[in-house]
Amino acid sequence: MTTQKPQEDMNDIKSLTLPELQALLTGLGEKPFRAKQLYDWMHVKLAAGYEEMTNLPAKLRETCGEKFRYILLKPIQVQVSRIDGTRKYLFALEDGNVVESVWMKYQHGNSVCISSQVGCRMGCRFCASTLDGLERNLTASEMLEQVYTITRDTGERVSNVVVMGTGEPLDNYENLIRFLQLLTDENGLHISQRNVTVSTCGIVPNMKRLAEEKLQITLALSLHAVTDEKRRRLMPIAEKYSIQELMDACEYYFRRTGRRITFEYSLVGGVNDSDGDALGLAKLAGPLGCHINLIPVNPIKEREYVRSGKERVREFKNKLERNKINVTIRRELGRDIDGACGQLRRKHLAADQPQKGKAADALGHTGGQQEC
Ligand code: SF4
Repeated sequence: MTTQKPQEDMNDIKSLTLPELQALLTGLGEKPFRAKQLYDWMHVKLAAGYEEMTNLPAKLRETCGEKFRYILLKPIQVQVSRIDGTRKYLFALEDGNVVESVWMKYQHGNSVCISSQVGCRMGCRFCASTLDGLERNLTASEMLEQVYTITRDTGERVSNVVVMGTGEPLDNYENLIRFLQLLTDENGLHISQRNVTVSTCGIVPNMKRLAEEKLQITLALSLHAVTDEKRRRLMPIAEKYSIQELMDACEYYFRRTGRRITFEYSLVGGVNDSDGDALGLAKLAGPLGCHINLIPVNPIKEREYVRSGKERVREFKNKLERNKINVTIRRELGRDIDGACGQLRRKHLAADQPQKGKAADALGHTGGQQEC
């Protein structure tokens, strides 16, 4: 990775890279191997506190406890699907904010969908996560800890991570890059970069910046419309960047990383699900060799969007396939629990502040399905 900035908050010990931790502990008069031990406790053994780090001298544990914050998330609600075992977590952060994450079991392994911000300022019209705007960015440690806490809770290794919960990851760029570095570090949990997906609504300059990091992650673009006019109706970000600019950024990303982009496309009944839309989508995806993930959108009370019918979804998919586009329909997991990203958090907020609970049935980053 090329653009890693030094961590500003050196007190947040779990957000530090191994070299940064080594420099920090050496500055305290410790031998460099202590940093490796501490890093191992945090990122491999997933210790829940300094007291578990039994091969570190008691004095060092005490010093760390005094000087450095050890970020942990407190699960305040866990919903488990009786249908497919999907687990939905609501976590409390240290400052009282709450975020949610989802654990999903697949044949190829376990996947966790994490949030990257508290709230979101992107304003996508089909999304509940943005209704109260952006509260704040999550730190790298808060993003990691969603994966770590779930691993501790399930006792099973996570093999895939998708950054598609609440928040726009490329609007929290520095923390995202640091998180990716720590998550995929061979000295840490060492999740393969190829098993990590980051979803963006299309912040063009940061898509290009991400290309320069030369990561092997999958970049998913929430496209949702094939004309600028339609996209502007669904996503305010489209006022800033045209579809042509987006496609140029996708092409650039592919050229720099060799990784094909995935287009996320939420099907909204009568809005973007016509045969003409399918054809337009094929024209955009074909030259770039993009994979398309179709998401039958969940209805939102506050907005008049409805879900495309099953038959329409099938026809839309067939149309793409006839144009030789690689396409999947997103599977719905955890249908019996509060399925879509953002729902648990909003219900929780609603209990405190009823006016914020109105959209509790609405969705999250890419149309609110579990397999983000
Ligand atoms: S869909 Fe994603 S980028 Fe858009 S408002 Fe929701 S969380 Fe933000």
